[in-house]
Amino acid sequence: MLKITKFGGSSVADSTQFKKVKDIIESDKARRFVIVSASGKRNSKDNKITDLLYLCHAHIEYHVDYMPLFKMIEERFLDIKKELGLDTDIDSELLRLEKELPSLSIDELVSRGEYFTARLMADYLGFPFVDAKDVIEIRYDGSFDYDKTSENLKSILIEHDRFVMPGFYGVTPDGRIKVMTRGGSDISGSILARCLKADIYENWTDVSGFLIADPRIVKNPKNIERITYSELRELSYMGASVLHEDAVFPIRKYNIPIHILNTNRPEDPGTIILDSIDAEDDKNAPIITGIAGKKDFTAVEIYKKHMSNDVGIVRKTLSVFEKYNVSIEHIPSGIDSFSIVVQSKDVKENIYDIISEIKDAIHTDHINIVEGIALIATVGRNMNRRPGTSGRLFAALGNNGINIRMIAQGSDEINIIVGVENKDFERAISIIYDNFIEEEN
Ligand code: ASP
Repeated sequence: MLKITKFGGSSVADSTQFKKVKDIIESDKARRFVIVSASGKRNSKDNKITDLLYLCHAHIEYHVDYMPLFKMIEERFLDIKKELGLDTDIDSELLRLEKELPSLSIDELVSRGEYFTARLMADYLGFPFVDAKDVIEIRYDGSFDYDKTSENLKSILIEHDRFVMPGFYGVTPDGRIKVMTRGGSDISGSILARCLKADIYENWTDVSGFLIADPRIVKNPKNIERITYSELRELSYMGASVLHEDAVFPIRKYNIPIHILNTNRPEDPGTIILDSIDAEDDKNAPIITGIAGKKDFTAVEIYKKHMSNDVGIVRKTLSVFEKYNVSIEHIPSGIDSFSIVVQSKDVKENIYDIISEIKDAIHTDHINIVEGIALIATVGRNMNRRPGTSGRLFAALGNNGINIRMIAQGSDEINIIVGVENKDFERAISIIYDNFIEEEN
């Protein structure tokens, strides 16, 4: 059994968290390849090292004294070193970094958060340190070169059967450090899981996996035990975020499970994410996997008589939104009408220009704007096997006096989206949760 074990920023925020990580690693021999983020927040008022490094770079750029910031960063690492009684010589490296700071590229500079965190963790666990710049190969276009990365790993494995590696960065063909997008250590873990053909990718964070609904809306919601990558994508899109969205891409095809676990409560079952779940295995799973949503959408409702005979009308309308660089969320349609649903913030500045251009483009005077719409996604891989799910959902909302403004369903039938008024958002989510989750038990 081979596990890739990645720890997020809060799991490595200070020496207390380092100790929890060590207990986790030592409790299972399969946990031999460890990836760490940079030390994150120790409490809600604290700063992430990566944020401080980005800020440091901005100070340098605008010729503002960066030393107080750099000292804060340095102190965080030196505190961990001292409190754990470690003897890795990061001191002289930090000193060198201080001198070189103004000449470093932004990527090189911000990558140091993960670098020093991993150096300390390797020492503390008694594992070799392997630098991500010697492992993760990133092409100039930002894509990952898995073949080269696998080759690098092959030579490293000749010498080491375990290691700690910093997440978040890799190397370009010309040998420069390149960072991924924020939260990218999740992707580093996933690349390693793929290239080392791991049995499981454990992603340790500060929550016990995904909850069926937002705990700020539903009291003590149940945990999602298993979820497919596609379901996760639908839920993440609606705002439920624990894992970097791109982390599933490297391993999707290999169906390597990602297990989300809580460093502060390692005994909790967490959530397992898979590409597909065997139907036989899934018999007792709930009909719905999760509920998520977002407020503040705007529907631009367009009416025109005999619209269905008018070729190109949707295209002409959409091209106006494209011109204003507005991304479209949904296009529910009727016979003589259709609506374009967009995020309100995207059209705030230009809504009147957009309407007048649509009027010109399709020759209609009948355009209605509805603001303050909330979209709620009810997601479940088992919905498409059970007729009546949408009926039950709409009935539950209707019986509780919630007016549904729009309905959309993806063709894979794993997601039913309803649009309600912003003011009904929280209540609608609670009603769906109670109806599908509470009443099932
Ligand atoms: N430290 C980086 C960030 O804060 C990457 C990561 O944590 O995954 O975005």
